[in-house]
Amino acid sequence: MAKYVYMFYEGNANMRELLGGKGANLCEMTGLGLPVPRGFTVTTEACTRYYEDGEAIADDIAAEIAARLELLEKEIGKKFGNPAEPLLVSVRSGSRASMPGMMDTILNLGLNDEVVEGLSALTSNERFAYDSYRRFITMFSDVVMEIPKASFDKIFDAVKEENGAVYDTDLTAENLKEIVAKFKALYRERKSEDFPQDPRAQLMEAVKAVFRSWNNTRAIAYRRLNDIPGDWGTAVNVQEMVYGNMGNDSGTGVAFSRDPSTGENKLYGEFLMNAQGEDVVAGIRTPLPLDELKKINPTVHGEFSKYSKKLEEHYKDMQDMEFTIERGKLFMLQTRNGKRTAHAALKIAVDMVREGMLTENEAILKVDAKLLDSLLHPTFEPGALKAAVPVAKGLPASPGAATGKVYFEAKDAVEAHKQGEKFLILVRAETSPEDIEGMNVAQGILTSRGGMTSHAAVVARGMGTCCVAGCGEVSINEAEKFFIDKNGKKYFEGDYISLDGSTGNVYDGQIPTIDATLSGDFGTFMGWTDKVRRLRVRTNADTPHDAAVAVSYGAEGIGLCRTEHMFFEADRISAMREMIVSETEEQRRRALEKMLPMQRKDFEGIFEAMEGRPVTIRLLDPPLHEFLPQADADIEAISKELNISGEKLRMTIRDLHEINPMLGNRGCRLAIIFPEIPEVQTRAIIEAAVNVSRKGIKVLPEIMIPLVGDVKEYKFVRNTVKQTAEKVLKELGAELEYLIGTMVEIPRACLTADEIGKEAEFFSFGTNDLTQMAYGLSRDDAGKILDAYFDKKIYEYDPTSRIDVGGVGKLMEMAVKLGRGANKELHLGICGEHGGEPSSVIFCHNIGLDYVSCSPFRVPIARLAAAQAAIRDPGHHIEA
Ligand code: PEP
Ligand code: MG
Repeated sequence: MAKYVYMFYEGNANMRELLGGKGANLCEMTGLGLPVPRGFTVTTEACTRYYEDGEAIADDIAAEIAARLELLEKEIGKKFGNPAEPLLVSVRSGSRASMPGMMDTILNLGLNDEVVEGLSALTSNERFAYDSYRRFITMFSDVVMEIPKASFDKIFDAVKEENGAVYDTDLTAENLKEIVAKFKALYRERKSEDFPQDPRAQLMEAVKAVFRSWNNTRAIAYRRLNDIPGDWGTAVNVQEMVYGNMGNDSGTGVAFSRDPSTGENKLYGEFLMNAQGEDVVAGIRTPLPLDELKKINPTVHGEFSKYSKKLEEHYKDMQDMEFTIERGKLFMLQTRNGKRTAHAALKIAVDMVREGMLTENEAILKVDAKLLDSLLHPTFEPGALKAAVPVAKGLPASPGAATGKVYFEAKDAVEAHKQGEKFLILVRAETSPEDIEGMNVAQGILTSRGGMTSHAAVVARGMGTCCVAGCGEVSINEAEKFFIDKNGKKYFEGDYISLDGSTGNVYDGQIPTIDATLSGDFGTFMGWTDKVRRLRVRTNADTPHDAAVAVSYGAEGIGLCRTEHMFFEADRISAMREMIVSETEEQRRRALEKMLPMQRKDFEGIFEAMEGRPVTIRLLDPPLHEFLPQADADIEAISKELNISGEKLRMTIRDLHEINPMLGNRGCRLAIIFPEIPEVQTRAIIEAAVNVSRKGIKVLPEIMIPLVGDVKEYKFVRNTVKQTAEKVLKELGAELEYLIGTMVEIPRACLTADEIGKEAEFFSFGTNDLTQMAYGLSRDDAGKILDAYFDKKIYEYDPTSRIDVGGVGKLMEMAVKLGRGANKELHLGICGEHGGEPSSVIFCHNIGLDYVSCSPFRVPIARLAAAQAAIRDPGHHIEA
């Protein structure tokens, strides 16, 4: 029979799937002999059963919880609900993957009108007892009963004001009693019943609430952003309370074993005396830096430093820990691998290898590939920054530079983003998990409250988003949507500001930014990844500049040069348009002749930038609608050029109009209907290659035919390409190594990959189109549908950014097997957007592709993900 509840001494760190990260680590710390308040964990399986059983806790699970509670009471020698020796517990969620602040916590559970009196008598501390009760009523009402916390905060703040209390700690026992009475009245008014007095009922309701919180909107949004499956469920940890709010010899704090911003090997954290955990992260009082604890209680500080080291060595990773001091005694409440900036992640990985704590391969597995994205983000242009005068200063909570329009509500930022606004800054008094989607679309986050471990700081760091937190120099009016800087200037929604997440400075207006520079740790670390990975990493680049940037990030070739992209600029698009609307071969050849030198020059630049690395150039694949002229002036100009009337040209444009352009005259179809197109393009490629190779630079062109679904299409275009290439080489009296291959982006190409594989020298998976066509879901219109599908839990992630292993992945696997079966030499890659997404890169490794290709800025991510895949794959394991 399944076991649904484990005492902390029954589990260990390997039981994360069952006990969640928090539960498993509490067990592990208990096993290590650290001072952990006792308790038990209700498993993630109990959560999945809760949902299977129609959102109800089955009798067998309820009985197991009751039995473990009894055991806990015996162990501790206190009793739940007994005023003479009351046991109080905290109830916290904890899923397999850490989801900071995403789910709910209830402290001081077990209090009621009698127990609070008992607690007061027992501790001779009435203030403490009522402080705990008011906190419990607020949390229980908010989390379990959905009475918003704000209603309680309003009463609390009013009593504070009436009594001239600046801090919560200034309130007396009498004040807190009054608050409790008012809270209970509010509860009665909202729920038409008294605040629940039976601690066992409180506990069961709290457990259910934590299970429910797994499916609240912010948890769902967080899971989607972090690829966490919805069926994992959360565990619930029930733990004896220890009290940081017992007076000035008590306190609570959070700390990291190394600096999570810089990676420096130094204990880093914050704490508050006479407080409970929520006070530190909520930013109500400004916490003190951990060093201050040395003065207040050096023994506790020393002990904590020792535990921090011990845990770091045990987990071989930087730890994020929570602690409480109860009347001078230290308790460890939580430990987990800490979130960190990309800079810190690399420094920590490199330092830990140098310290002998990790091998290179272990270090590679510790760095989240997605995080590298933020390393390559811009900083301010130094000259412009020097000239700028800060209008406020806050805490440098998450590094980077951001400039953008101010938005005061997450939903407004999300909406602006949907409307195409690229530069946004979210300004909030403090952020909460509800703001997650707004934070995700913002370039920067500014808060007026909260410390370095506040929600805004922790989440922004994890996202790699620039954040200035706790900026008391600005006053924010969220309701009326403006803020005032230290000089009294008002900023409204849509006004530009700039944030420096590395200094905490806030600036009026826009400051230009420049590309990121990389530390020596980056080079060292990426060097390790290159030693171990099997997959090659190429880039998608259409210009010599992008190609050079990609090479500097480690690209080993170009996997996709989209030739139609070379004609986006205003001075070039007219030639392309002319080519598209041409009615005769002669007109088309004339237009192509104009395009030829432009292409040849671009290809030369790209070949030079790539210095002998392979360059895959794709023949034109323009969705026609993107290029057809619309404006009268354009139509006039082209009609003149082609020497036809404007009216006739308009008719041609109407004729070219397609109902489904994505399924229309694209890719190889264009090359089949108008063979002069691949002819001219091949000429440009071969001439450029010969020109560059004559300069003594090696070139390796790979000519790629797009949108092939039938081997006959491939052969037709391949023959044109081959004949032209040979002809041009003969004309030039040159020899050249080159390949001809195809995109695999139509499901039929996967199904017939053996036939195509016999003819082609390489395949490159175009997973953008392959996903579009496998799902029958337009890549241009998917957004709205996906939103609805996420809401209704039909999809958990966006298959256009992450490979759908179960469907699209199967097509790819089939194409690999059929293609290689027919042609052992077949070279295989991917050039769809998925090529830079870590889980997709791992999939590509697993199905045996030779390379992935992605945008220049994602090259390091792909290198790291490829190394992680190789290390985890026993078949390709290379010891560092
Ligand atoms: C693809 O379809 O995945 C691809 C790379 O081509 P494009 O995005 O240009 O259609
Ligand atoms: Mg495509």
